[in-house]
Amino acid sequence: MVQNYEVVIVGAGPAGLSAGIFVARQKVSCLVISKDLGGQLNLIPKLENYPGTLMSSGPLLAKTLESQYLSFGGELTYDTVERIEEDSEGLRIKASRSEYSAKAIVLAPGKVPNNLGVENETSFANKGVHYCTKCDAPFYQGRVTAAVGVGGYLLESGILLSRMASKVYLIYKGGALGGDKDLIASIEKKENVQLVPQSSVKSLSGTGTLQSITILDNSGKEQTVQVDGLFIEMGSKINLDFVKHLVKINTKGEIEVTEGGKTSHPAIFAAGDATSIPYKQIVAACGDGASAGLSAFNYVEKLKGRPGIRSDWKKTIGDSVFHY
Ligand SMILES: Cc1cc2nc3c(=O)[nH]c(=O)nc-3n(C[C@H](O)[C@H](O)[C@H](O)COP(=O)(O)OP(=O)(O)OC[C@H]3O[C@@H](n4cnc5c(N)ncnc54)[C@H](O)[C@@H]3O)c2cc1C
Repeated sequence: MVQNYEVVIVGAGPAGLSAGIFVARQKVSCLVISKDLGGQLNLIPKLENYPGTLMSSGPLLAKTLESQYLSFGGELTYDTVERIEEDSEGLRIKASRSEYSAKAIVLAPGKVPNNLGVENETSFANKGVHYCTKCDAPFYQGRVTAAVGVGGYLLESGILLSRMASKVYLIYKGGALGGDKDLIASIEKKENVQLVPQSSVKSLSGTGTLQSITILDNSGKEQTVQVDGLFIEMGSKINLDFVKHLVKINTKGEIEVTEGGKTSHPAIFAAGDATSIPYKQIVAACGDGASAGLSAFNYVEKLKGRPGIRSDWKKTIGDSVFHY
């Protein structure tokens, strides 16, 4: 049986749950469908840069956002959205275990960082192995680090680490660094960065936390170096197969959004890491989730002939100008 909601949200990461809080609080029927609770928040044991909390953790933030969303009457189900289609009633959402219909949808499916693929990698995650340099480099002030990865991701990782760490090994497969010429020139000038071309990371060692990595070069020579942290910057996967026939996707494989989380489809809004917004961080995902949620609410209110919530207005009464 198809279950009907006014708004369906795909993804229970910070973007989807924030959208849910803003929709459910307006007393509109709302369902969040997600594979899991929290998304990438589950990869963050120590969270330092979420405004309003001095120190938190990703899972704790996920649980708080979930409780806040449910407290306004929103519903949450664990399932995988496989396909979204238009129908005469609005939008039909086919998930692996059930089917739903909605007047508006907020897409917040986020992304998943790619692994390097070395043995032991997962056992060192957040114990020396990291997948987001802009998030975790500040934990490595004055310490020895290495970064391995591809193109622009690796260059950015090298620059950010060089500002924090005492030493950075920059490991890459090719003979020369690839990407932006200015960034390459800047990295080559850094005294604490050692370039390690034509190489890959063969193995990781340590008792409890990462202590050393073994680097293998193209000639088969191995060297083991002591490091406190290894940053893996191999890009991320965004999977939009379930909706790419309905919304415009940019050349980076992200959902193209404009202000208020609008996509190229009038009834579909989007927020978070799977969209074209810059600076993929939690606070940005939450803010954009709130905007996309309110846009979805406005869309369903307009279908009912109601005004919704204005995003901005200005009124002049006599000599006074009011902004809202
Ligand atoms: C290792 C790491 C550390 C980080 N540290 C920080 C930090 O310290 N500070 C910071 O601000 N940011 C940090 N970030 C970035 C931050 O986690 C992301 O910007 C944020 O989680 C994006 O939120 P989101 O809701 O867009 O996506 P996600 O968190 O990726 O959540 C997406 C959700 O959608 C679900 N989903 C996907 N597809 C489907 C589908 N088809 N059907 C149903 N559900 C689906 C997923 O299961 C998931 O629950 C870090 C990221 C990583 C990888």
